[in-house]
Order: sequence, then C-alpha cells, then structure tokens
Amino acid sequence: MRATEFLLATEKETPADAVVVSHQLMMRSGMIRKLAAGLYTWMPLGLRTLRKVEAIVREEMNRAGAQEVLMPAVQPAELWEETGRWFQYGGELLRVKDRHNRDFCIGPTHEEVITDLARNNISSYKQLPLNLYQIQTKFRDETRPRFGVMRSREFIMKDAYSFHSTEESLEETYNRMHTAYSNVFTRLGLDFRPVWADTGSIGGAKSHEFHVLASSGEDDIAFSSESDYAANVELAEALAPAGERPAATAALETVSTPDVTSIDDVAAFLKTDAANVLKAIVVRGEHTTEKAEGEPAPVVLFIRGDHELNEIKAEKIEGVASPLQFASDAEIEAIGGVTGFVGPQGLSAKVYVDRAAAHMADFVCGANSKDAHLTGFNWERDCALPEVADLRNVVAGDPSPCGKGTLEIKRGIEVGHIFQLGTKYSAAMNATVLDENGKARTMIMGCYGIGISRVVAAAIEQNHDDNGIVWPDAIAPFTVGIVPMGYQKSEAVTKATDELYEELKAAGFDVYLDDRDKKTSPGVKFADMELIGIPHRVVVSDRSLEAGNVEYAARRDGEKHPIAIGDIISHLK
Ligand code: ATP
Ligand code: MG
Ligand code: MG
Ligand code: MG
Repeated sequence: MRATEFLLATEKETPADAVVVSHQLMMRSGMIRKLAAGLYTWMPLGLRTLRKVEAIVREEMNRAGAQEVLMPAVQPAELWEETGRWFQYGGELLRVKDRHNRDFCIGPTHEEVITDLARNNISSYKQLPLNLYQIQTKFRDETRPRFGVMRSREFIMKDAYSFHSTEESLEETYNRMHTAYSNVFTRLGLDFRPVWADTGSIGGAKSHEFHVLASSGEDDIAFSSESDYAANVELAEALAPAGERPAATAALETVSTPDVTSIDDVAAFLKTDAANVLKAIVVRGEHTTEKAEGEPAPVVLFIRGDHELNEIKAEKIEGVASPLQFASDAEIEAIGGVTGFVGPQGLSAKVYVDRAAAHMADFVCGANSKDAHLTGFNWERDCALPEVADLRNVVAGDPSPCGKGTLEIKRGIEVGHIFQLGTKYSAAMNATVLDENGKARTMIMGCYGIGISRVVAAAIEQNHDDNGIVWPDAIAPFTVGIVPMGYQKSEAVTKATDELYEELKAAGFDVYLDDRDKKTSPGVKFADMELIGIPHRVVVSDRSLEAGNVEYAARRDGEKHPIAIGDIISHLK
C-alpha cells in the first residue's frame, strides 16, 4: 500500500475521553473513529488488524473441528421468552419493534438462536457432537461503554456453540476449545492466562475465562505462586446464595468519604479501633468516574459478622471531614446482615455481601501481603475453616488442593470465555435428539466466545511504547514499512524503492510505502510509522545504496542496521 493512496488518519492530539493507552493509540493512529458512545468505525488501518485477528481465530476454530455459520444480528423476542431471558436480561438488551409492532432484540449473544437452529435441524444422536461458530456483530447496551473498543456497545465476537448427547462428549469439546483458545492467544503473541470464572447471565456449570494481563484490565485475577491455579475474583460473587445478590446491589450503592482514598487511609481508620481490624477486610472497588491511569485502585471496606454498624461513627475517624455513610440497618437486614462499607469519593463500592464472598476476599486478600495486616488472616488456621476449604475446592475445581503458596492479584482483560452450559437452553427450548433406543433426549451444550475487537485493544495494551504501537508481526496492519529518502527525486532511490516494494509484496509481506513527497518530512514519516506500529522499517537512501545497502530497524528496539539490499527478504523471513 502506498501512503499517497491510503486513508491514513494519524492525529497528534489525544482525545479527552481516551484514558487507557490502547484507546489513545487507536484514535491517534487512526485505526478507529467514534460515531457515538460505544460505537466505532473501523478505519482501513484498524480493519487490517481486526481481519488478521479474525483469520487466526477462524483457522484455529476450523482446525478444532468447528463449522462456521452466520446468524442474524436481529432476533425475535419469542425465542428469548422461551428461555426467560427476555425478562431477566435487563438494560443491556437492546429491544426494538418492527413495523408490525413485534418485539425483537439486537443480539448480545446467540444461545437462543442456535438452540432453535439445533432443534429444527438435528434429530439424531448420530449427528452429534456438533460445534458451530460465527464471527459476527453483537450489541450490548453497556451501562458504561468505555476504553474505546475494549468495552463498546457494538462489537465483534466469535461465538461458538456445541451440542452433545453425553457429558463426556461435552467435556472433550470443552477441552478442545480450551486448547484452541490457548493456540489463538499464543499465535496473537499475547501474555494471557486461562482462569476459573463465573458463568454470569449466560449460565451453566463450568467455565474458564482467558485474560490478557494488563494494568488497565477491569477484572482481578487471583494466581497461585506455586501451581497453575488462577481464578477471577468475580467468581466469589457467583457463590452467593441465590436471591442475595440482586438485593445487595439494590440496597448498597455509592457512599462518599472524601478523605479515604487509599489503602493507607483505610488502615489508619481501622487502627482507630483495634476491634475493627479483625472485623474488616478489604476487597476491590470500582470507578464510577473515569480517572487518570495509574491512580491507585480504590478500596472497599467489608465489615463482617455481627458487628454493630452503628458503633462505627464518623467521629472516630480522624481527619475525615464529612461523615461516612453506611447502609441502614434495614438495608443490612435485607441482605442477610453482614456488611457495611466505605468507598472513596466518586467511586462506587462493589460490595460482596455473602459469607462465601467474604471468605473469598479473605482468601484473596489474606494472601496478598500488602493487605494482610488488615485482615488478620492466617493461612494455616483460616484455610482449615470448612467454608474456606469448600470455597477453594469450588474455585480451584480440585478436591485435594494443596493450599500452598501465596496468591497474587493481577489485572486482566477478559478476551475469551468458555462455558459448559449443560441443558439450560436446550431444556427450556425443548431441543432433543433421539438416542440409540429411539428415546428423546435433551441435548447438552457448551458455548465459547472471543471478543475479536477487544483483542485488538488488549494487544495494544501489551505492545506499545512512548512512540506508539509495537505490533507483533501476526496482527500488524502492515509488516514492513519503506521510507525512501528522495523518492521521485533520486533515480536510484526511486528505482530501488519500487523494486523492493514489488518484491516484498510478491514474497507475501503487507508492505506500506511512504511515498509522500518532500512536504512531509522524514521525521513525520518515521513518527507516523512508529505510531501505527509497523514492526519492520526499511529506509532507502542514496547514501546506503552506494554501499549496496538499505537501512533496517525493528520497531521493538529501533536499532538501525545496514543490510545488503539483496538480503532484505531473507532477513525479514
Ligand atoms: P465483560 O465481563 O467484560 O462484560 P462478558 O463476560 O459480559 O464480558 P461474554 O458474555 O463472556 O462477555 O462474551 C464473550 C466475550 O465477548 C468476552 O470474553 C469479551 O472478550 C467480549 N465482550 C463482551 N462484552 C464486550 C464489550 N462490551 N465490548 C467488547 N467486547 C466484549
Ligand atoms: Mg458483560
Ligand atoms: Mg465477564
Ligand atoms: Mg464472560
């Protein structure tokens, strides 16, 4: 591609709403443009990378035996009524009416549609197992779309759904998808971890998420230092007894405590009353307003047990100007009587109100040395508590966990999620096959998602420097960039450049030739090429050509090397 023919839309200024580096760089490099909140156009540059991610995912899905389909984005409400999700899904589901006043939604996910497809087209156990996938646009009316395409409202997902006649068959496909996902993220050049996860509104029994590790991630991932164990801290919420979670969310919302903004402030508060130390643990909080990157994560206090919340009065806390606000007694009672909390100003508390979650937080924070002094957590003693042991079993999915090592918490970006759904959808929608005895049996299902567009942002979070994006070769929009010095002026440079451009293309490279004239200075060309992250740069100049060379530099280290012009292709391979 020649720069003079390409819609390059690089920008110097960073848009004010872009707080994470991938969003900033995607805007500045001109990969995407915003249409409205959570809605983005993929520009030619960005689309090249998106398509490469798609291609890798498609290859690995095909290799794992899945077959591609393409389902409509618009889905009839009737199917969602059959599973009950029309009533449960809430505001994320964008509901629309057609001209006949019939209800539809713009699909946030496709379990209903695929289950309908399966019940109408699969009749015998002999047709199973079957794994169908698509790469398609989803819409979720996210409460807070943010971070560009990382959490947008419209986004591209690869979603796959498998159908089985036995649990063993589901397990086999699930494991195969686990492997396929690991292959995908390895090929994408990402530092990732599969973790045990909550099944959320999709439902089902067993589930793993794939997280790209990055400080801007929205999830906390707990790792063991001495085993492969890793889990999403969010999983703790899922262990709350049914019915408690919605009440908790409704009862407890944002509280404001202007001067408590760091973990040290909380520690100071706890130390004002020794009794508080043992009764409180610290779990994570969540921003309600966009904050500058690098700001310490807010904290939430969780005060357990039969503690008399009324006893904790603002006066006890030195230096806090306005009173802490706690949930009222009635609110506490409504959620099972276990919690009170504080959260820093402008930040809302994500509150865990059940015992399982409290233990999970103990489990997590207790092993996190920074917070351990707040919890009074003792690994040997507290892990022997039956609830904690049970919880750990559930979390680790292993009936004989060692309990050794320490847990580390890192931030992760959820890029993939696999679920064993069981019969949740097939039973509700009566999707059956005839078994070997001619008896109708409900199909068993799995489902498997990858956030294709989110992956692009996540890759940038892990691959950038002060000058811009540093693409891994596999998903770079262009793999080689040529900057000729004196193109169309020096005959030798023009000839060598044109030949090199054609040869590189013929050899299968995606080449970007910056053929802009001298009104665009070499400095600007280099800066653009660094910003858009082309992994390999070749500079053609009269001076290097005199020695039979071109100048090569890799984006990652920027070091310049002379390379004989005839050797450049083999050098790049
Ligand atoms: P999150 O926890 O980030 O809201 P999710 O658990 O709701 O994601 P899933 O239902 O598991 O998402 O969907 C599969 C994948 O789709 C996710 O792993 C993620 O990579 C991607 N995804 C989900 N929501 C968004 C979004 N709003 N923007 C971009 N990608 C998304
Ligand atoms: Mg979500
Ligand atoms: Mg999630
Ligand atoms: Mg998920």
